[in-house]
Amino acid sequence: MRHFASVIPFALLALGCSKLVAVAHADEGEPHAAAPASAAAPAKSATPAKAPSAESAEAGNRYGVPFAWEVEKDEPLAKARAYLGDVLTDNAANLQLGKEHFLPLAEKQAPRATVVTCSDSRVQSSAWDATPENDAFTIRNIGNQVSNAYGSVQYGLEHLNTPVLIVLGHTGCGAVKAAMGKLDDLDAPIKAELSGIKLPEPNPKANERKAWADAVVANVNQQVDFAVGHFGKLLREQRVLVVGAVYDFRNDLGRGYGRISIVNVNGNTETKRLRAFELALGTPMPSNAEPSSDDAARDPRQAAGESTLAAMLRNQAITAHAHEESARPHAKADARREPKVDAHAESHEEPHGVRAPD
Ligand SMILES: [Zn+2]
Repeated sequence: MRHFASVIPFALLALGCSKLVAVAHADEGEPHAAAPASAAAPAKSATPAKAPSAESAEAGNRYGVPFAWEVEKDEPLAKARAYLGDVLTDNAANLQLGKEHFLPLAEKQAPRATVVTCSDSRVQSSAWDATPENDAFTIRNIGNQVSNAYGSVQYGLEHLNTPVLIVLGHTGCGAVKAAMGKLDDLDAPIKAELSGIKLPEPNPKANERKAWADAVVANVNQQVDFAVGHFGKLLREQRVLVVGAVYDFRNDLGRGYGRISIVNVNGNTETKRLRAFELALGTPMPSNAEPSSDDAARDPRQAAGESTLAAMLRNQAITAHAHEESARPHAKADARREPKVDAHAESHEEPHGVRAPD
């Protein structure tokens, strides 16, 4: 039995619920809010989707704010308190940045990219953006889907005018795994959310891990296709580059733990060309790939489809960059803000074609 023995009214004031009186009903299990409607109560719908249950009717669709937290540390409320405590503690550090830091952010945002990625908690921008604030307009959902976030993506591309859309999937994606199987057992809202992920038949020769990684890439490609199809005018005018990539914290792609691999540019998926494109971006990517017992990843470069030529080019680029860095120690920070990419000059590749959608 949960105990809500103590209630701290002043804490309610701190939450801006001055008219809300939390009443602990220890015998009934849930604390109820008995009070006039307040900002804490969810907005009432004019036509509720279904009749409220007797319990929710009694509570007026409101729940009290519990302050007698936990008996055991692993109780949900105790875990919630621990997390929220961390939120406020970390936010306190944010306050220390001071007015000067925040004033430039006050009026409007100026992101350099629109990013669609998965809600997965292991996928965080610290893995690819050391200065994320005001840098990426980010949309997250399960399975990094463009197709069910069309409005948000359109806002990023057409109103914020970001010149690049990145669809960033990740290995070990549960949404993709679910879409690989039957969705029948899932609740309807989750099933609907995943219904936009259409995967090809898996390679029967691929083991489970490889098939999952392939499906992650296939989903990224599908989402890129959707974006290319719906924002073709921006692509044709060369106002937007659509990039599909996979963040691999499991080394499923065999290119090293934590690496982001570009798997699609404007609908192009040719591995050799994409590796050359990565090289042309000018950032050395030291490999931390380890030999794996997984057959698919035994030779990381082969597994990633990297040719001998591309590997040679990569090594050359790393060497050249090291020389450049030693000559200009502050070059990296400058390059971050003013990237100068000329894929054709660096790679001597054909121009990346933009598939012209109708
Ligand atoms: Zn995911």
